[in-house]
Amino acid sequence: MFDELSQRFEDAVKGLRGQAAISETNVDGALRDVRRALLEADVSLPVVKEFIEEVRRKAVGAEVVRGVSPDQQFIRLVHEQLVETMGGANAPLARAAEGPTVILMAGLQGAGKTTATAKLGLHLKEQGRRALLVAADVYRPAAIDQLQTLGRQIGVEVFSLGSDAAPEAIAAAGVAKGRDEGFDTVLVDTAGRLQIDASMMEEMVRIREAAAPDEVLLVVDSMIGQEAADLTRAFHEQVGITGAVLTKLDGDSRGGAALSIRKVSGAPIKFIGTGEKVEALQPFHPERMASRILG
Ligand code: GDP
Repeated sequence: MFDELSQRFEDAVKGLRGQAAISETNVDGALRDVRRALLEADVSLPVVKEFIEEVRRKAVGAEVVRGVSPDQQFIRLVHEQLVETMGGANAPLARAAEGPTVILMAGLQGAGKTTATAKLGLHLKEQGRRALLVAADVYRPAAIDQLQTLGRQIGVEVFSLGSDAAPEAIAAAGVAKGRDEGFDTVLVDTAGRLQIDASMMEEMVRIREAAAPDEVLLVVDSMIGQEAADLTRAFHEQVGITGAVLTKLDGDSRGGAALSIRKVSGAPIKFIGTGEKVEALQPFHPERMASRILG
């Protein structure tokens, strides 16, 4: 993997080759190239700037590693810093100490929330767990039917009160059913909007208060790129998120949103969506995403 990366940064690190160590003066060219790579991967600009300064601080004055040239050392440092910033290792889903674990799915319309809710239901089922899917997206007319269809397809029960009930009432009733009937996880699909919107945030807060979730997962379409930073900030400040699902990584997005989400909220990306099919969900691995972001 480092071979591939070093090829990508071949020119960038040229200035470091043959040097005794990485210094303030000889690292600039290499940092410029990393900056370009991150921007090309659609990491948001303030996040790129902060990341570059962190790499600069670590690179300059880093101890010379015996047997490793400064250019290789630099590339390794960038990669490690990316992995570390994205949380180091995969972060598992929270689990309630007692009663069902409640997970709220949040995000904009079209991000892939309903799909991700079903994907997680199947993922848990495959681990021998029993999930209840709750259809609290009363805003998008087809969302309830879509969740019911997916639930039938994967053999996971779906709870709905139709589209006339208030979403917070649906969420509360779903959680109560989960507890009464011994489900171990309740996944609540909520309504998004086309863009960040006060009524969506207020609705999310009401649902959060009614459902007392163990996790609030923000579902983010990786194709929105740079906008992921503002989106995450808004949800994190107004609702509070504990993790994220990054969808549509089967497309050609380089996944820079992953870095922005983590930097802005501190919350780990827990899963990635890699296709429309209900099986297309994978745990998030910072190591793989770092390589993808660097391109
Ligand atoms: P919601 O409005 O957030 O509930 O979004 P949906 O779950 O309805 O998804 C919106 C569209 O994105 C649908 O056409 C999904 O099939 C599609 N979709 C969701 N996740 C993925 C993914 O990981 N990859 C691809 N290619 N499409 C996805």
